[in-house]
Amino acid sequence: MTTRFLSLKEITLIMQELLIPKEAYEAVWDINLEFLKEQQITTLILDLDNTLLSNKQRNLSIQHLNWLQKCKDNGFQIYLLSNNRSKKRVSRAASQIECNGFYLAMKPFTFSIKHLADTYNLNLKQCAIIGDQVFKDVILGNWLNVYSILVEPIDKTMSIFTRAQYTLERYLTKKLK
Ligand SMILES: [Mg+2]
Repeated sequence: MTTRFLSLKEITLIMQELLIPKEAYEAVWDINLEFLKEQQITTLILDLDNTLLSNKQRNLSIQHLNWLQKCKDNGFQIYLLSNNRSKKRVSRAASQIECNGFYLAMKPFTFSIKHLADTYNLNLKQCAIIGDQVFKDVILGNWLNVYSILVEPIDKTMSIFTRAQYTLERYLTKKLK
């Protein structure tokens, strides 16, 4: 029996499939909603922390609420999928947005998004997952073939560990492109 190792090219291809978002923007309001509609996307599964709400904020800004309303006016369904372990924080945001969602999602593990899809009868092929972290939001989307959109974190001041993770994420996504 011979053992075959993956070539560097194959590894790069796998990394590309997992780490490169379908689209990347500075902020959520830069997302082209018309284009998403053309892709038959009907549902936006949104990360909360640093995508819609900075760590310092408890309530969503008017700009973010306006954007979410614009998404709804365009016919999109909105769900929150947050790794935050505070039920209170996620519920408060969900009630502000008037949407449903899960906290403690443990992205990039897939069970919570599958549970979300089962609970609300969502076709993941018609969903886009939007978040600020490659290692959580983008990998989860790409792993399940859910349209992945990366946005820059709202709060650029972060812990050294988080900063290191962001730097590595952005370095890898640029390098692999
Ligand atoms: Mg986040």
